[in-house]
Amino acid sequence: MKVADIFSSAKATGAQPISFEMFPPKGELTLEHAREVAEQFQDLHPDFVSVTYSAGGSGNSGATAKIASMLTHDFDIASVAHLTCISLTHDELQRKIDEMRQAGVENVLALRGDLPQGTNASDAARAEYPYAKDLIPALVDAGFCVGAAAYPEGHITCENLELSVEHLKQKQDAGASFFVTQLFFDNECFFRFREMADRAGITVPITAGIMPFMSKAQIQRMVFMCGASLPSPIIKLLARYEDDPKALRQAGIDYACQQFVGLSKEGVDGLHVYTMNRPDIAQAAVQALRDAGAIA
Ligand code: FAD
Repeated sequence: MKVADIFSSAKATGAQPISFEMFPPKGELTLEHAREVAEQFQDLHPDFVSVTYSAGGSGNSGATAKIASMLTHDFDIASVAHLTCISLTHDELQRKIDEMRQAGVENVLALRGDLPQGTNASDAARAEYPYAKDLIPALVDAGFCVGAAAYPEGHITCENLELSVEHLKQKQDAGASFFVTQLFFDNECFFRFREMADRAGITVPITAGIMPFMSKAQIQRMVFMCGASLPSPIIKLLARYEDDPKALRQAGIDYACQQFVGLSKEGVDGLHVYTMNRPDIAQAAVQALRDAGAIA
């Protein structure tokens, strides 16, 4: 099923699609493990599950389409295969398109990907597909329903949020029919961004992506990697549970659940759980939304 249709049907009934993200198998995480995760996701009835793509180096980009296919064909869950373009040539893109078609993939999240190590912005500008917006038309022409990434606090390398929203509009103009946001810890950032996107003429659904923090080291990594701001309630939780990793993990899950409930109450288009392949995280988010009466 096409994700754009999932959002349209949900809008007609006032529902908010819930989706999960999972990683493709890498290292010790086998395809079999991905299947076990998918089995547990199935019980939670997500509206779709997106599968990340890891190009180059230790990446296992070949698994993305296979897992997306497994989700849809073996578990009857709509799926989205991520695809990054910064290192793709036209011929490689054609091969990827063929691979995804053969696997029966219907939805693709079109991404630039992070710049390969040792490359700068001017090297990147010479790539065959320098930005996600350059990838989108080829995927739309190939018949996929295409989504793209959105940044409620602006992309980390973008000068300011206004420009980031302009770049988002370019992705919509190129054919993106839904957006999934980067993680954020402060819902107010999302609400401000949503107003700006609205003013900029973004009309396609924007689903809000939330990742619970699991440890101090993980949150530091996330903040430096993506530039998300840390509101004081989180800093206080980090301080309170500094010596109790288990309690900190639980506080991270509880905080994310509160974010989901708050977002749902404000009528966001959809809710996306960065599950880190942990069904217990997906389960906690779904339960919190059920308890709040946001979903049946
Ligand atoms: P773009 O939209 O192309 O933007 C990249 C940068 O260029 C931004 O700073 C943007 O502001 C700027 N820009 C855009 N258009 C222009 C223009 N016309 N002129 C000048 N500057 C411009 N990474 C992976 O490797 N695999 C994944 O599976 C993956 N999944 C992700 C899922 C989500 C929901 C999100 C939010 C991110 C994901 N990422 C993934 C990370 C993503 O690849 C990085 O954030 C990457 O740095 C930017 O990708 P993008 O598609 O947003 O790029």
